[in-house]
Parts: sequence; structure tokens; C-alpha cells
Amino acid sequence: MIYIKDDDMLNGKRLVEGNLFGEDDFEPCRQCVDTGKYDFSDVMARLAKSDFRKRFRLNAANVDYVKEKGLPTICIHAADIIRKRLAPAVIPNDGKQTPMRGHPVFVAQHATGCCCRGCLSRWHGIPAGRRLTDVEQEYVVALLMAWIEKQI
Ligand SMILES: [Zn+2]
Repeated sequence: MIYIKDDDMLNGKRLVEGNLFGEDDFEPCRQCVDTGKYDFSDVMARLAKSDFRKRFRLNAANVDYVKEKGLPTICIHAADIIRKRLAPAVIPNDGKQTPMRGHPVFVAQHATGCCCRGCLSRWHGIPAGRRLTDVEQEYVVALLMAWIEKQI
């Protein structure tokens, strides 16, 4: 299991500067997820009613970072973050693995209820305790990208 401790990710400056992963750590973008393939209107409406979820916004540094990198690159980051930090069947610090700030994908995860397997189960009906399928990972990445696109 590939698993990154929070400590590795918490240096906000490093994240904003885009050195979250070495260049070779990325798999080629599998799909550059087509967010239009999904209808997120129901889940977005539910999220908008949550005082906790609706507080999350991309800050100016996040927006600059997304614009500088471009959405396809952010999509690759999202797929990588989800594969390493949300998809494993067992996540020792589940519920605490997603920093509240830093990479825009982290912010999107909190805003959309995709921050941990507990929230993924509550908000999206995807059970904890087993590895996420590729289809489920794509759904999460598409939702994150849809949220990020709306913020930009
Ligand atoms: Zn959570």
C-alpha cells in the first residue's frame, strides 16, 4: 500500500509551489476526467446546505496555482492524491489524512465530502473498509475537478 503521512504534505509553501510530487511520480493522465459525464447537481445542492462544507473556498494562492498549472495537471494531481490517500482499503489516520489547506485538491476534498472514507461513505454512499474501484476514483476526481472549475 502506498501511503503518505500528513507530515509529508503539510508544508503549505512546498505544496503551493507545486513540488508535491517529483516529476516522475505521476502516472500519465488516465482520462483527464470528463466532468460533464456526471450530473453533480444533487450532491452539490446537498453540500451547499452544510455549514461546514460550504465554508471551503479556494484562496487567491490556490486560484493562481490552478491557473498556472492548468486544469489537466490539477486533474493528474487529484487522481494521484485520491489513489494514494483515499483509495486504500486501510488508512491508519482516516479522518485526519487531508490537510485543511495547501493543495487546491485538499480544499476541494473537504468542500465535497471526499476528505476521508467516513465522509465518502456519508456523503456519497461509498463504503469504507475496501479499496476504491477505478470507477469510484474517477467519480471522486470528476467531482473534485467540477468543484475546482466552479471556483476558478
Ligand atoms: Zn472526512
